[in-house]
Amino acid sequence: MKKLLAALATTAALTLSSAAWADYPERTITVVVPFAAGGPTDTVTRLVAEAMSKDLGQQVIVENVGGAGGTLGAGRVASSEPDGYTLLLHHIGMATSATLYRKLAYDTLNAFEYVGLVTDVPMTIVARKDLEPADLKGLVEYAKANKDTVTVANAGIGAASHLCGMMFMSAIDTSLVTVPYKGTGPAMTDLLGGQVDIMCDQTTNTTKQIQGGTIKAYAVTSAKRLDVLPDVPTAEEGGLTGFQVGIWHGIYAPKGTPAEITERLSKSLQVALKDPNVIARFAELGTVPSSEADATPAALKAKLESEIARWKPVIEAAGQYAD
Ligand code: ASP
Repeated sequence: MKKLLAALATTAALTLSSAAWADYPERTITVVVPFAAGGPTDTVTRLVAEAMSKDLGQQVIVENVGGAGGTLGAGRVASSEPDGYTLLLHHIGMATSATLYRKLAYDTLNAFEYVGLVTDVPMTIVARKDLEPADLKGLVEYAKANKDTVTVANAGIGAASHLCGMMFMSAIDTSLVTVPYKGTGPAMTDLLGGQVDIMCDQTTNTTKQIQGGTIKAYAVTSAKRLDVLPDVPTAEEGGLTGFQVGIWHGIYAPKGTPAEITERLSKSLQVALKDPNVIARFAELGTVPSSEADATPAALKAKLESEIARWKPVIEAAGQYAD
């Protein structure tokens, strides 16, 4: 009898808990972008949030928590209520910062639940409009000859722009002067104003400026040239062998968020990634939405785990850490 009562109680609890999530979401959802407003992560998040709002029937708003290469915003979400109302949209930096930072306020692989992958964005090596070199080969020579004065913008240690900048310096075997910002939105303002020389940043932040001629583009980091930037050579074409990197983005929830919620959010993400406006705007910015199979908790979990393993030895070999 006791057993029967216990079984009944468990079933009732289960029914209650699934019923409790049946009405989710009942209020506004906040997605934390761990970089300043106006940058590439912000742009991607706002497009996806708008489309998810339509599907979820509730507002999905963006909060920018920039600083420390994305780790401040990630830490904020890690310590938020696991109720499905605070999420994080972060990129490859989630994986690289796990090794780059000796101390993080959260344990990357144990502090989050997964919603799904969003997009994989190519990078571009760009510079202020009036930087002298005409092509990538010239830029490499120029950077080597002026290594104490050439400045490279990034969004802090752990940011994608930091990773790409490090890859560039390692490829040309030269250290340049780095200038950290809270996001590459504000870094772009300084590049446009000529206060900083070079940046390696996502096409979602640079395509419009390159097309408008307000900054100079030296290379894309994809395997092939991009339709939206047909005149910009790949880094490989420009002489940097093997220089390829894509900036994958994913949506996370705090650890303990019920699976019913992350599944619901994943379904909504899948709908958002098929939204004609998202597809069209992504295409204009040189990227494509992730597939339905990738916009799932399992795919993001696998990606994060494999990317932490991929970048760990590279970062350890470079020996550059942050505290
Ligand atoms: N995604 C950029 C980076 O990692 C930062 C940003 O979105 O502002 O460099």
